[in-house]
Amino acid sequence: MESPKMDFQLPPELTALQQKTRRFVYDDLVPLEVETELANGHLAPEKIARLRARAKALGLTALALPESVGGRGFSWVAQTVVNEEMGQATNALGWVMFDPAIALVHATPEQVERYVRPTCEDLRKDCYAITEPNAGSDASKMETTATRAGNDWILNGEKWHVTGGDTADYAVVQADTGGGNTLFFVDFNLPGVELHEHAPYMHHLIAGHVKMLMKNVRVSQKNMLGELGEGLEISKEWFRRERLMIAARCCGAAQRLIDEASAFAQGRVQFGSPISEYQAIQFMLADSLTELWAARLMTYATAQAADDARSEEALKRVHAKTSMAKLYASEMAGRVADRAVQIFGGRGYMRDFAAERFYRELRVERIWEGTSEIQRLIIANSLYKRGTEAHL
Ligand SMILES: Cc1cc2nc3c(=O)[nH]c(=O)nc-3n(C[C@H](O)[C@H](O)[C@H](O)COP(=O)(O)OP(=O)(O)OC[C@H]3O[C@@H](n4cnc5c(N)ncnc54)[C@H](O)[C@@H]3O)c2cc1C
Repeated sequence: MESPKMDFQLPPELTALQQKTRRFVYDDLVPLEVETELANGHLAPEKIARLRARAKALGLTALALPESVGGRGFSWVAQTVVNEEMGQATNALGWVMFDPAIALVHATPEQVERYVRPTCEDLRKDCYAITEPNAGSDASKMETTATRAGNDWILNGEKWHVTGGDTADYAVVQADTGGGNTLFFVDFNLPGVELHEHAPYMHHLIAGHVKMLMKNVRVSQKNMLGELGEGLEISKEWFRRERLMIAARCCGAAQRLIDEASAFAQGRVQFGSPISEYQAIQFMLADSLTELWAARLMTYATAQAADDARSEEALKRVHAKTSMAKLYASEMAGRVADRAVQIFGGRGYMRDFAAERFYRELRVERIWEGTSEIQRLIIANSLYKRGTEAHL
């Protein structure tokens, strides 16, 4: 009997997308990594602008949003392909392939014209502000308030770690609207909005992270994104999408680390032989490749499940799977980076080596968009509700 085929290969059009993205990453981004690193992430704005324009011309931007609002409407699998490749560049240079938040899909037609379409065109820049000094893992307990004032809302509060806030011109802010959370578009030029720098972070990404203060900031009802009280649910959609893309980027990073560590090991001679011939090195590379394969299978299987999800129940299973993919891929990438530094020896500790940069940069993948502990809680809860079978 002929065995039925389980196809784990990318179809030809996605292989072409993968190759196009990889060429961009290695021709345009990787050569700028050391310059970016040594400038502590501050690559010249004109260089960033040129890279963003090139990414746009290649059709690699605004992947997630549908074409009806100015995005490219890529499938989850196609988005995973692009993110996996862009994860191969350090310093988040891959983020020049700007990708406005999936939450913007809830915009009204008027908001589409004012915010969403210009963001997809790179005329405006968004960022997402949920975390607060006293609300991190528990994003349901916002201290930022939005109080109704006639046809307007008055926002007060403080948001932390707002990624991309240094170059954005507006934020999607999650605020307590009395008994629930709601999202608002908040323009940075409104009276009462203040942006402050945080102390420096462990990594040097091309995007900074700001502290956003709102003091009696008045926004119109027209700035509410989604319905009253829908904030947390919409943010969950954003988490689902971002968690899977983190998994994809971690796979890309691990692939480059393994390639570079393997090539180095085969050329580096100590005690009369290439170090690649020593079992201690072989085991580190073998474990890394094996774990990468597992993470990659999980990531693409989750992307396929997200593309196929047609019901609320299917989406809930996808939610748990994105947590599993993010948890496993981010922890895998951390282990791979640690081994790569070890294989490179003293060179692995130098900032002009990708291994050193990834070693620091990948650490946050286990923290943002929900820590590893929070992913485990989501997975366990889903297991109790749905049983093992639903997740396989
Ligand atoms: C570089 C960077 C960029 C970021 N960008 C953004 C952004 O753009 N927008 C935004 O809104 N946020 C952003 N964040 C915030 C990020 O999502 C939070 O840091 C993260 O969710 C954790 O929240 P916290 O830092 O308050 O830690 P806490 O929630 O205080 O957690 C501290 C520790 O306690 C653990 N913990 C908490 N609850 C539990 C529990 N129930 N069981 C077991 N352990 C638990 C956590 O896992 C963690 O180890 C960013 C953070 C960083 C570092």
